[in-house]
Amino acid sequence: MDDDLLLPCPFCGGRAVFDVSDKGYVSAECGECGTRGPGFKSSDGYELARNHWSARNADDLSSKGLVVVPIEPTDAMLIAGSRSGFPGRVWRYMVEAAIDEEER
Ligand SMILES: [Zn+2]
Repeated sequence: MDDDLLLPCPFCGGRAVFDVSDKGYVSAECGECGTRGPGFKSSDGYELARNHWSARNADDLSSKGLVVVPIEPTDAMLIAGSRSGFPGRVWRYMVEAAIDEEER
């Protein structure tokens, strides 16, 4: 499937490409920052990878309590995590910082 069918990265605007792992899982990933969608190993793996990459901001993800965040935490995420004050809140603070960055 053509990489041009993938939307740009939601975090950096980089060009997204399909990747096939050694074990045959197809995923979409950003060629710039490395953000990666979930991998699929099936005959329609490219279609599923594209749909999940394109639906990254869609209501169907948020309704399941899911968001896509960078593989490597951003500076804003690390600062937010360090300010959380309680270990149980670190992840929530970091994800909220990632969402704030995406909405900017
Ligand atoms: Zn990116």
